Amino acid sequence: MATGGQEAIDYVKYNIPDGIILDLMMPDVDGFQVLEKLRNTAKTKNIPVLILTAKDLTKKDLSTLSANNIQQLIHKGNVDMDGLLHKVRLMLGNTTKDQSMQKPKVLIIEDNPDNMTTIKAIIKDKYKTLEAFDGEEGLKMIRSHMPNMILLDMSLPKKSGEELLKIIKNESPTKNIPIIAVTAQSMKGDREKILNLGCDGYVSKPVEPDELLTEMCRLINTI
Ligand code: MN
Repeated sequence: MATGGQEAIDYVKYNIPDGIILDLMMPDVDGFQVLEKLRNTAKTKNIPVLILTAKDLTKKDLSTLSANNIQQLIHKGNVDMDGLLHKVRLMLGNTTKDQSMQKPKVLIIEDNPDNMTTIKAIIKDKYKTLEAFDGEEGLKMIRSHMPNMILLDMSLPKKSGEELLKIIKNESPTKNIPIIAVTAQSMKGDREKILNLGCDGYVSKPVEPDELLTEMCRLINTI
């Protein structure tokens, strides 16, 4: 999800989606500029793009779009939900099977090596794991890898879980990544306290495999 042209351009620097649904009329950086930028960048030039717009297109607009190799053009109002889903499927059908089969990327931020090993063993069949052993490394990995989910130990060296949360929940596009606190803070009221800090989920240590996987499944479905 990107809520503007510049945000979209920033997003694809770190994370290449399988397809893009692009509006044309946006303030500041519009869809035409985004499209041009995508097509002039080696890493993004082949991403399928579906244009979804309410704009009355001029001849010049149409020639710009076709010169930039768009997958489909849909006028808002000419499509219902099923129609749009169908078009998205067609768009993704043009990418390789491999990409759509990829497991979601999960970043584990945990300073205790034993806990890291345990968590990885629990989730490795269903998720691709990335690891960071302190808060600063975690922040770097979040920005460079844009994981689909983060498992966050709250007490970390260099930057605490709480500090990290404040940063990533206040900047786009990282604010949309679901975060599960995995923490030894399991006194009465700790869950509420941690959810209030901005975590999307909570699992207490020692980690129960079923509890962790259930919480992850609940949140990954909301992406
Ligand atoms: Mn810790």
